[in-house]
Amino acid sequence: MALAPYAVSSAQSRGRRVAEAPPTWRDEFQRDRDRVIHSSAFRRLEYKTQVFVNHEGDMFRTRLTHSLEVAQIARAVARALSVNEDLTEAIALAHDLGHTPFGHAGQHALDACMRPWGGFEHNLQSLRVVDELERRYAAFDGLNLLFETREGILKHCRAEDAARLGELGERFRTGQQPSVEAQIANLADEIAYNHHDIDDGLRSGILSLDAIAEHGVFRAALEDSRAAHPGLAGRRLVHTAIRVMLGSFVDDLVTTSRARLAESGCASLAAVRARGAPLVDFSAPMREQHLSLKRLLHRELYNDRRVRRFSDAARDTVRELFEAYFDDAAALPEERRIATDAAPSARARAISDYIAGMTDRFAIAEHRRLVGTPRWPRELLGT
Ligand code: MG
Repeated sequence: MALAPYAVSSAQSRGRRVAEAPPTWRDEFQRDRDRVIHSSAFRRLEYKTQVFVNHEGDMFRTRLTHSLEVAQIARAVARALSVNEDLTEAIALAHDLGHTPFGHAGQHALDACMRPWGGFEHNLQSLRVVDELERRYAAFDGLNLLFETREGILKHCRAEDAARLGELGERFRTGQQPSVEAQIANLADEIAYNHHDIDDGLRSGILSLDAIAEHGVFRAALEDSRAAHPGLAGRRLVHTAIRVMLGSFVDDLVTTSRARLAESGCASLAAVRARGAPLVDFSAPMREQHLSLKRLLHRELYNDRRVRRFSDAARDTVRELFEAYFDDAAALPEERRIATDAAPSARARAISDYIAGMTDRFAIAEHRRLVGTPRWPRELLGT
């Protein structure tokens, strides 16, 4: 399939940090995607919380299934817009590699621990994983991904981080946009979590169908589903309505973005980058619906008492683990230890990398080993 003139192509890529011979049977961006899938950080996403802890039930999303859903949506949109599907998929699969255990509660706790040393940000950490932390290739640290894949992983960035990220941070200093492929992966992430968090929230019983049925776009999807399938009820009705709603967001995203790309007259990647705002977007009414779904999830799900109890346990676990390693370097496994006379900032960063890479259950086991004080209500552990 011919790529649009503004799509990223491997022929025009800014390349890898360490030069490599081109792959034999694959495109360069397919190679990036494959490296992400083979990374150990990717496998560990299976045991990292999305919203519900992994052991709360086998039916809930994890970071891994979230990443796969993002990749599926992103690829469909990339194909519809005739841009580079392999690059879009690579970005989508890699976007959460830097996520801590315990979802956002874990990230906030680690950020608080790291505040004296520049903080912790999962998006920046995803880049650290692919640039430095994976140790599997003979000739380089990290995965040595192409510039465009790394650029897509770095969705946002503070000014002080942009300054030290060189070429990759440039667009944050100059107000440029990333590729269409990166813009797609970003919105596919948002579409994916809105929909699967509603699904998981309903499954958990924390969200009620009545509460969400008040919401405009969900109500329309529910009414359409009932009209098309009279008598449909229970989980099948929920699945159908969520599927219809997801379809309506993807339809809107493709239609709106296609029109905006055409109107923009962009005939190159450089023209896309030079725009003042992203070209991939929802229409104004759907953007409002999207934001109001996010608000509903914050109010009804993420801030629910039961979810917060989990967040409190996660926060204490991460903070106490960090303190335990910081106070006693010997508590770290040998390959993670750094010299006791190293600068505190370097020690803190090494500990932060170690904790960020942990799965939920490994963090809980380490906490039990080093701290002892139980932080997890028994029912949250499923025991
Ligand atoms: Mg995500």
